[in-house]
This record gives sequence, structure tokens and C-alpha cells, in this order.
Amino acid sequence: MKKKEFKAESKKLLNMMINSIYTNKEIFLRELISNSSDALDKLYYLSSTNGELKVNKEDLEIRIEVDKENRTLKIIDNGIGMDKEELENNLGTIAKSGTELFKESNNDAKNLEIIGQFGVGFYSSFMVSKKVEVLSRSINSDKSYLWTSDGIDGYTIQESEKNDNGTVITLYLKDNTDDVNYDEFLDNYTIERLIKKYSDYIKYPIRMDVETEKEDEKSKKKEKVIETKTLNSMIPIWKKKMSDVSDEEYHDFYVDKFYDYEHPLKVIHSSVEGLTSYNALLFIPSHAPFNYYTKEYEKGLMLYSRGVMIMDKCADLLPDYFSFVKGIVDSEDISLNISRETMQEDRQIKLIAKNIETKIKRELETMLKDNREDYEKFYEAFGEQLKYGIYSSYGMNKELLEDLLMFYSSSEEKLVTLNEYVSRMDKDDKTIYYASGETVDKIKMLPSVEEALMKGKEVLFFTNYLDEFVIKVLGAYKEKQFMNVNDSNFDLSSDEEKEELKKKNEESVDLFKSMKEILGESVKEIRYTNKLKNHPVCLITDGDVSLEMEKVLNAMPNSENVKANKILEINENHPISKKLEDLYENKKIDELKDYTKILYNAARLIEGLSVENPTEITNLICDIMSK
Ligand code: ADP
Repeated sequence: MKKKEFKAESKKLLNMMINSIYTNKEIFLRELISNSSDALDKLYYLSSTNGELKVNKEDLEIRIEVDKENRTLKIIDNGIGMDKEELENNLGTIAKSGTELFKESNNDAKNLEIIGQFGVGFYSSFMVSKKVEVLSRSINSDKSYLWTSDGIDGYTIQESEKNDNGTVITLYLKDNTDDVNYDEFLDNYTIERLIKKYSDYIKYPIRMDVETEKEDEKSKKKEKVIETKTLNSMIPIWKKKMSDVSDEEYHDFYVDKFYDYEHPLKVIHSSVEGLTSYNALLFIPSHAPFNYYTKEYEKGLMLYSRGVMIMDKCADLLPDYFSFVKGIVDSEDISLNISRETMQEDRQIKLIAKNIETKIKRELETMLKDNREDYEKFYEAFGEQLKYGIYSSYGMNKELLEDLLMFYSSSEEKLVTLNEYVSRMDKDDKTIYYASGETVDKIKMLPSVEEALMKGKEVLFFTNYLDEFVIKVLGAYKEKQFMNVNDSNFDLSSDEEKEELKKKNEESVDLFKSMKEILGESVKEIRYTNKLKNHPVCLITDGDVSLEMEKVLNAMPNSENVKANKILEINENHPISKKLEDLYENKKIDELKDYTKILYNAARLIEGLSVENPTEITNLICDIMSK
């Protein structure tokens, strides 16, 4: 019998398959089962258009047979089958889709990766087999044929015996090597595991005979019996009607599939038809995975097409700011041959991703409205990611995300949304006030916060390092500007008070000049203020960088020493102001120097900044105390 050569491209691919050291060898089973499932689909379709052909849907099945002795694995279906010509055309050349994939790049490593991820169907069987036989009989023929190949040398086709339509694929497993134990693929548990992992939702039963021990009722003797087991569950939970799935089922599925030990906070189950059709089952976890805020965390949704898993974590389906969402998307519009490279350009993927983004946003808004407690829990876990979403896109996503933000409110003493803040504002108020610090308690004690609260303002307390950067990117919310109560522009005093203070500052301009010389570039200005109740001093800033931002920016790796423009404000009504003036008038400049240094560093302490030279300041304080 004459051996036929494979077509050139097939040859190259085959060679790669045979010699592949690819660790994902196991995908061969997924590929063969998908082919069988397609063959069953084709037969069923044919019977629906051809009245003479009677096919009972219940009879359609895929069987797996293991022969440990001969080290063979059989994948059997009673589908449409192939005649001689089809065997030749389908298995002699790599499938067209595969060919295209193959043409895309000439880089073998890259090709292997693509193959590993998506498979190129039938040829993947050579990753685990030294010889493959395909015995098939087409529904349209009364002859059957056996296709045989031991890989690269080519293949033969000969007439054979088979009584019914369908295909039997026999894999003669490769010999074990130091690296790979091919016997693994003869193990029932391995096969069951692989079917569950890749082919659980193939809509035809995948059956296998398994040996189990049973106790005989009478004799109580244990004996071995062969049982036929269906390995796949066939109908995926996301294809079921929502009303048919209990909360418990959803939760079990989530915990099982996404390795979480807690129930999800929210289940989003949707079925969409239109420009693109898909089923999606999404989950919002109730807590952040331990590696969530690290580089190790990989976002993405599982992607299925026609019951076959294509990808474990399809990143293109989720925007970064919703990277916490787990779940599954199943769409018949997605080609099985899609690759990571083509994914980004795929129109269907883009459409689905857009829909999913809108859906998640709406669900979060509903949760915020109807289930505050859950939303707060969600926000505690993933709020930082939303903030990051606003910040990292330079505000491009702000409309989408700003209403989902929450900050601690001084008046409500809990987290509130910007919308809630604005709805409580006086009509002609144009400013949203905030203050930053390490903790709510520490912020409360800031002198400028005290002033704002005394004047009846609601102040948002920013305790997350991203908060100020986020509102800088937002710029405004509903046309209300944000203002740090520690900013030089924050001033709630009356015009007369302003005028009076201005006069006082002008009178003391020489004193401040002298003090400024002592502090040098550390401060931009020194002046009196009328807004500090009993506190002697405070430090405020002028310009874009606040004190908190200075801290955050300088804590980043490779930071260039960023400095906020600091203004040292002294309480005009505090006895210390009188003291400073006396020192200056009496030309006690050395003492003025010490006082100035202590006051400046005291103001830094209040703001949670460190003292620049602790030893010097401690000595100065003790000197003064000893006088
Ligand atoms: P693909 O499935 O991507 O087309 P394959 O290389 O896996 O590529 O298969 C090539 C072709 O061989 C299939 O398109 C199908 O026509 C045919 N084929 C493979 N397996 C079977 C089967 N079990 N029954 C019937 N036809 C099959």
C-alpha cells in the first residue's frame, strides 16, 4: 500500500506536534472530543433536513475506551463519519483555520504557544501518540475506511470493517520518557479530570466504562463491576434559565470554579442576543484575593464557545478598573481558533467587553442604591481599584466611575458618595471640601479641619493615598470644585475679617521676612491667620501639590524630591504672636531663630510630616524649658 505525504504546511505543523515539548499535551483530548461533537452536530443537522434519515438524539454519544495493556486510547463517536475522500482531505491537510494561524508568523515558538492555547484540532493527537488510526464510516456510504499514520512519514488509507456510521480514533500512546509519563492518559481519573476541565459542557454525553467495587447484597462480598459513567455535565449553569438555578448552585459553582472560600457578593447572570450573542455568568467577590493589588494578579473571564473552553483568563473582556470580576462568557460568535494576538482586534470580543462593562457598572449602581451594606463591603475590597481606574486613565473614565466613589464624611461619619455630598450642599455653595491624612481621627484634629467644621462645612476625609490624585483628575463633580481645607485659598472669613488680617500682616512684614530668612526654602511664606481657634500654628500649602501628595510622591520608587509650597501660618490671637513680635523688636534675633525653628517643626508634626532635624529641635525645646 502506498504511503501518501502530508501537504507541506501540515508537515511542518506535524513535526512541531511530534517533537513538541509543550507541557499542555493534555489538550489533545479536548480537540478530539470537539471534533466528535461537531460530527454529531452535523449528523443531527442532516437528519433535520433529510426526512429519510432517522436519528434519535438520545443515541448520539461520545465514548472513551482505555486499553491499558496495549496502551491505546480510543475516542469514538456515532456522528456523521468520513468517506475515503473526506479522510484524505480532512486529515491529510491541516484544517484551513489552522493554516491561516500558521501563516501569520514564521516563529516556531510563537506558533507553539498558539497551538497550545487553542489547538489545531486533530493533529494535536500526535503530541501524545506515536501512531494514530482513524476508522470511519460516513452516513452517506456503506464502505468504511481506516486512515493510519505514524506521523511525519505520511499516512495510508485502506478499506476496512465498521458496521455503523461514525468514527473511532485510536491513539497509540508514545513511550514514557523521563519528562513525560504518557501512561497518565490511560488513567480513569486523569481522563475524568480532563473532560471536566475542558469538555464539561459538550452537549452530548461523553461515556466511559469504569471499574468499581460493589458489595453483593447477599454475600456481602465485594466484587468488581463495570459501570458506564457519563463524564460531562452537558448543560452549563450559565445556559440555564435564571429561574432554574438556586442561589446555592450559583455559590457552589463560584466557590468551586474560582477557588474562593467565601460566597460572592453579587451574581450577575445574563443572556444577550443582538449584534452579538452570548451568555455571561459574572461574580463580584466579597473580598479581594490575597494577591489582588499586586502584579501577580491576572484579570480575565473564562471564555467558552459552544461548550468548549477556549481560554482560562481572557483579559480583553474586562477593563482594568473592573479587574476584580470573575466569571464566564460563552459565545457562539467566537471562533475556536482565536488567539491572544487576534483577540484584541476581534470585533465580537470588543462588543461583548463593552456590554459587560456597562452591565457591571449598572449592577454596582443598583447595589449602591438598594443594598448599601453590600456596597460598602464591595468598596472596602475594591474601591481602590475604581480610584486607580480614574487616575490611571487621566480621567477618561471619570464619567463611568465617579458615581461609584465613596469617601468618609465629617457630618455623616460614614462613607458617602459625591452625589450625596452635593445634594446636601447649600444652593450657592460651589465647593466640595476635603482634608487628607493618615486616619480619620488624625484628620479630625487638623486645625484647618476644625475651622471648616466650626463654620458648618461638611468635609470629606481622604485616607487613601490615591484620593487626592483622583479628585485632581476629576477636577470637579457636578460643577463643584474640590478644595483642600489646607490650601491657601481656603478662607471662610468675612470681608472685614479679611481686611483686618491683611492689615496686621502688612504691619508685621519685617518680622516675617526675618523668620523666612531662618527657614530658607523650607517655606514659601510666613503669615498670620485668624482661623486657628486655640492652636498656635499650622502648615498650609499653595499650588497643586498638597502635603499628603508630597508624602505619597516621595514614597514612590525613583521619586524626585517633590516639595509642596508650604506656608507657615501663625495664630494672630495666640500669645506666641506677641512673643515673636517682642523678640523682633528687642533685636533678640538668636532667640527668634530658635522659636521659628520650633514653630515650623511643630507645624510639620501636626501635619504628620517628620521633624527635619529631631536632635536640634529637641535640644532647642529643652533649652527654652530650662530658662
Ligand atoms: P478543525 O476541527 O479545526 O476543522 P481538525 O484538524 O481537528 O480541524 O479536523 C479536520 C476535519 O476533519 C474536521 O473539520 C472534520 O471535517 C474532520 N473530522 C475530524 N474528526 C472527525 C470526526 N470525529 N468525525 C467526523 N469528521 C471529523
